[in-house]
Amino acid sequence: MLEQPEKEKEKLTQLITMTSELGLDIGANLIISNSTLSEFEYIIELLATVGFKRLTLLRYKPPEDIDRWVKEKPDEYTLLEFERKLLKTVDTYPHIQFRVDCGLAFLERKLPSQIAESKGIRGCTAGNRILSMAPNGAIFPCSQLVGQELSAGNLLEDDLQSVWINSEVLKRYRSFRTKKPFKASQCGHCSAKIQCGGCRVFAEDALGGDSGCPEPVLTTAMLRKYGKYGLSDTIVDIQEGIGFTDGGCPYASFEEIQGWLAAEDYPKWVLRKNEIRRKQL
Ligand code: SF4
Ligand code: SF4
Repeated sequence: MLEQPEKEKEKLTQLITMTSELGLDIGANLIISNSTLSEFEYIIELLATVGFKRLTLLRYKPPEDIDRWVKEKPDEYTLLEFERKLLKTVDTYPHIQFRVDCGLAFLERKLPSQIAESKGIRGCTAGNRILSMAPNGAIFPCSQLVGQELSAGNLLEDDLQSVWINSEVLKRYRSFRTKKPFKASQCGHCSAKIQCGGCRVFAEDALGGDSGCPEPVLTTAMLRKYGKYGLSDTIVDIQEGIGFTDGGCPYASFEEIQGWLAAEDYPKWVLRKNEIRRKQL
């Protein structure tokens, strides 16, 4: 759409005309990566011009290619910037219904918990309000928590009601907020843990806290404990540790170090899952 906007606009306009004649109201999904964020206003304007009335924004999840992940994963500052842009965008397009996926539930972290509860906002509901099914019938707690270890059963072989009631995988995700990995994490100490809880995809073990959250709602002591206090200071410390040229330039740039920190954030459970998949091919 960004490469050939006029051509794509024409196709999408035809699609919207056809579907509305059938009484259907279609929406668009937009993945929030660095590429889409750099053109965010333009993309929304294009989609609005074409006539979309519902847009769902999805958090960028780790792809198999780690280099791509490092390149496309918005860092914490970019996510906070996106939050500001989104508020403005929602005001600019009042006729469009904007929705965010559960992976972006941290956007609702400042909502008083009683209001969140009354609106039914529950953040991560893997294996609770949602299930996902693969083309081979395998059942997973959500479309992003997949792989052999996370299979709850198979619709072609098992009784769905029995899987829903008895699956240990589903039970584990339904109660993740009560488990040690979550309770010990920044999410476990965050005051938004009920309406948000973070996305399990970003947890090292696919069960604990969300290490990619841009702004946990924590006390200062807890922010320090989880390394969320003064990230720029951390980067400057690393730069000083590596050293400077005679001319005073750091050997590692701010952006480079941010990239290393982002690579460290690549969830270990996704690495394991990719490794298993590669061996099976
Ligand atoms: S720390 Fe976790 S629970 Fe709190 S806002 Fe961030 S992702 Fe949500
Ligand atoms: S793990 Fe939870 S928050 Fe993440 S995509 Fe699945 S249901 Fe949503």
